[in-house]
Amino acid sequence: MTAIEQVQTQPIALADDLVIGSEDVVMMVGPCAVESESQLRAVAQAMRAHGVRVLRGGAFKPRTSPYAFQGLGREGLELLRAVADEFDLLVVTEALGVEHVPLVADYADIIQIGSRNMQHFPLLWAVGELDKPVLLKRGFMSTVHEWLMAAEHIASRGNTRIILCERGIRTFEPSTRNTLDTNAIALVKATTSFPVVGDPSHATGRADLVIPAARAALAAGADGLLVEIHPNPAEARSDGEQSLALSDLPRLLDEARRIAAALGRGLA
Ligand code: PEP
Ligand code: MN
Repeated sequence: MTAIEQVQTQPIALADDLVIGSEDVVMMVGPCAVESESQLRAVAQAMRAHGVRVLRGGAFKPRTSPYAFQGLGREGLELLRAVADEFDLLVVTEALGVEHVPLVADYADIIQIGSRNMQHFPLLWAVGELDKPVLLKRGFMSTVHEWLMAAEHIASRGNTRIILCERGIRTFEPSTRNTLDTNAIALVKATTSFPVVGDPSHATGRADLVIPAARAALAAGADGLLVEIHPNPAEARSDGEQSLALSDLPRLLDEARRIAAALGRGLA
């Protein structure tokens, strides 16, 4: 019997007053990459004003080109923690390599494993040793079975606080960056006890499709959403074309709340 079959992970407490995988849907929003204190503070202020609790943002960025912005590294982690503490938010951020795990764990509340690293087994083992929730993104070329086996690698080291994240897969269709696999959301909800989050930003690659895809992820049963948002998307150093503006946040929340309500759920 596998660890996943043995453990009942759901729901997962993220803070004393915040749980994921229970009735209420958890919103996680923030920029693709941490760029500056003013950028993060603007996002955090908007989140606070609208009651969103989990701040996302990459300090170590997995970029296709080595010449693209790679993130602020440790400085980005420091900014995330300082701004999150000021606004009473939680931080989810990516550990890009095994060597970053202890550092990221010092600053983050939830450790993100990126799509490109889903089968980086030593990284999975390293976060499996931690006492922190892990947000495990599905590899964009990975089957659901491979995704669940990646979760198994984490759980096999003792950490069963795993949140699965469907962020779109690569298909034959080039019109959108990826294809949101709502089947997979419904399937892992039906067959595992892990909370599941949908990422409509990477799934579509287009800001105008983010809210429709967010609705679809929730309708399929997602327990939360991970959404990129930026004070000035046109100037973003990564993923600006798929970033919502801060002025879009009320509509995202309103539509998420309405889909959640149709399913008998609320927003956490
Ligand atoms: C991100 O969340 O910004 C990111 C790099 O996501 P993914 O690993 O899904 O591409
Ligand atoms: Mn991104």
